[in-house]
Amino acid sequence: MPKALDVLKSLSSKSDEHEFYTRLPKGYVLGKTKYLIITGSVISGVGKGTFSSCIGNILKMCHGLKVSPVKFDGYLNFDAGTLNPYRHGEVFVLDDGTECDLDLGTYERMLNQNLCRDNYITAGRIFKTIIDKERAGKYLGRDVQFIPHVTGEIKGFLRELAAREQSDIVLVEVGGTVGDIENSYFLEAMRELAYEEGPGNVCFVSVVYILEPGSLGEQKSKAAQLGLKALMGMGIQPSIVICRAGSPVREKIREKISIYSNVPLERVVGSLDVDNIHKLPLFLKEKGIDVAVMDILGLKDRGNHPNVFSEWKGLIDKINSKRREVTIGITGKYTTVHDSYMSILKALEHTAPYLGADVKVKWIETTKVNADNVRDAMSGLDGVIVPGGFGSRGTDGKIECVRYARENDMPYLGLCYGFQMAVLEFARNVCGLKDADSTEIDPGTKEPCICILPEQEEIDGLGGSMRLGGYDMTIKPGTLAHKLYGKSRARERFRHRYNVNTKYLETLEKHGLVFSGMAPQKKIMQILELPGNCFHMGTQFHPEFTSRPLKPSPLFRGFIEACLKGRKG
Ligand code: GLN
Repeated sequence: MPKALDVLKSLSSKSDEHEFYTRLPKGYVLGKTKYLIITGSVISGVGKGTFSSCIGNILKMCHGLKVSPVKFDGYLNFDAGTLNPYRHGEVFVLDDGTECDLDLGTYERMLNQNLCRDNYITAGRIFKTIIDKERAGKYLGRDVQFIPHVTGEIKGFLRELAAREQSDIVLVEVGGTVGDIENSYFLEAMRELAYEEGPGNVCFVSVVYILEPGSLGEQKSKAAQLGLKALMGMGIQPSIVICRAGSPVREKIREKISIYSNVPLERVVGSLDVDNIHKLPLFLKEKGIDVAVMDILGLKDRGNHPNVFSEWKGLIDKINSKRREVTIGITGKYTTVHDSYMSILKALEHTAPYLGADVKVKWIETTKVNADNVRDAMSGLDGVIVPGGFGSRGTDGKIECVRYARENDMPYLGLCYGFQMAVLEFARNVCGLKDADSTEIDPGTKEPCICILPEQEEIDGLGGSMRLGGYDMTIKPGTLAHKLYGKSRARERFRHRYNVNTKYLETLEKHGLVFSGMAPQKKIMQILELPGNCFHMGTQFHPEFTSRPLKPSPLFRGFIEACLKGRKG
């Protein structure tokens, strides 16, 4: 048994000695939980999150293992709340209100499970924890260092999660690429973890990209080799290498990678880009990744689980069958970066196959849309979505799109800001309140139909201060929302600062707008619908965050159904 294990075990009960070893959390049994650590080389965005969530999917759905994913982000931000989606992709919101990287959305969808703040860690949060401890005098006069304090904090974070969740396996995705300054200490922590946990308890999976420069016309493995060399130079031996490439990975390339990285050829896996992410777990299963991981970590199939993987395969069958195309317009500010709307795109993608539909998305840049050209902007669409957003840019164009949809009975789904836009459109064009506006857009508006939430009035800072996370809502019987949810209570996720001004409720309702979802205790409107139209709905929450491949959001379902029905031909 390595000496580290002896010391660690004794540490958990006594002694301040051995400061370079990290104390184990209460209830933690060394070797009980296994760790799968995913790193990436050659390019950023190589798909670590996708691969790790797909591996988790097979381990959970096929083998009944309890999987806990963790994403490490090297940013000094405390969380993703203040990140601009245009630069970093969508800010995903967990039920507990954590604002995080979009990969957490991928994990929730692929694993079909809710995550919380313990599944996401940023460099900023690690350092804040350490500085707070230092200020509180917790380090007893010691100089605080990367090793053991920062690395210790990281190992502690993972072990706390393992102990609390009693996980069979913790999947750790290390953000960034190997060699970045931002993740070097994190990788060091993972090396230490592997040593302390002992052989057979930690498995490193390295995702590399195989280049194929057009001018050369052949695959080149050098960049991948250098990435692996950098990883091994940090004392980390990968057990599995996933080679991602634009065309099938050649045998010669896999052999080269195998020789350079001490990884047996059968564990150097070539992965092609699949046309639909939901097919990836099946592809990886065919390659035997699950068997390799379980062999390396000595994990046994639980055998006591419902076979959810057959449900997953059922979804793939639906994806592969013939489907009717529907074209959905999505308006918004971040139209050039599709990652900004990841969850909406995924919700459409995984809901459509259940209805025999295949969704094509058309992006609408609303800064250029006005009453004269809105018809052109909306031509060829079967439905339109106005997604979440902040600030005034492009809002008049969005409101024009809502008006067009309402007047032409085109299915409309407004998500958060899109809900607020629908209220403003209705107030202006149906209730005759020409100046209706949101105080977010015009703080001095004469008709503040959308105003700041009362609980938000006193808040100054921007980080983590919105109305965030999961809240219950009551749904009015007899409404479309009630029909779609099939119940009078539901829970959805929010991320907003503004809401419908209750002073205008009577006017809006008198003219026919129905607020079919409401917060149970407070007067916060959460769903709107227009009974005369086939589907004109807005939600103050984000149903895209809770829509899952195995359990699509009823609202997305209703919306796509309406788009299909309205389709001519
Ligand atoms: N900007 C709006 C608000 O703060 C909507 C937010 C959103 O779309 N997520 O209420």
